[in-house]
Amino acid sequence: MRKNIVAGNWKMNNNAEETQQLINNLKIAIEGLNTEARVIIAPTFVNLSLAQNAVNNSIIEVSAQNMHQAKNGAFTGEISGSMLTSIGIKTVILGHSERRTYFGEDDAMLTEKVKAALENDLEIVFCFGELLEDRKSDNHFNVVESQLKNVLFDLTATEWKNIVLAYEPVWAIGTGETASPEQAQEMHAFIRSLIADKYGAELANDVSILYGGSVKPNNAEEIFSKEDVDGGLIGGASLKAEDFTAIIKAI
Ligand code: PEP
Repeated sequence: MRKNIVAGNWKMNNNAEETQQLINNLKIAIEGLNTEARVIIAPTFVNLSLAQNAVNNSIIEVSAQNMHQAKNGAFTGEISGSMLTSIGIKTVILGHSERRTYFGEDDAMLTEKVKAALENDLEIVFCFGELLEDRKSDNHFNVVESQLKNVLFDLTATEWKNIVLAYEPVWAIGTGETASPEQAQEMHAFIRSLIADKYGAELANDVSILYGGSVKPNNAEEIFSKEDVDGGLIGGASLKAEDFTAIIKAI
């Protein structure tokens, strides 16, 4: 049975003190909340240990925002999967559009990163989604299909147990523009059908597919109400305990 998930991608925001404060506020805000959903936050690397301690005694899980594909070596400034697991991290976001756009992460690199994460028993929140021009030229289904097939369709069914998908149309990230609930549902159903064709309906039904792109307290409920939308990857609105909590409540 797939799980609902609300995950907050904090990006390059919040120093140590702010990280502690936001987690404290979030813990207070969600205390007593009766949710079946998993709640994940992804602070920046330097604050992961602090966050791990701070979420203690709460339902909040901590994820990394990225990792390098190599085990170790001369990659100045990079962080490996085993470094993440050594501090108790169990989840990593890979393929975020900002990594693809600003840091040149392509399907080949992401294939290596996925492999390395799985070798370290990390759960992966795999992000993908089309650009505005892809949607305008009616090419969005093709783009999404190739992003998925190129990186994830050589995985075994067992490896898929560690995959969470996050469909994030790039034109909706940080722009205030959201895919309509119908557009999200249409794409999520398409994604699930691709997985079903390759791996069977049972596995496809078990994969959580999150929507990401300007999810806010005022639109979350409608998006999450769609059958194939299993939660959200939240950027801007995850930086305020009140807003993030309202989004968790919407699931
Ligand atoms: C994101 O960066 O994954 C994201 C969805 O950002 P925002 O919610 O700010 O659009």
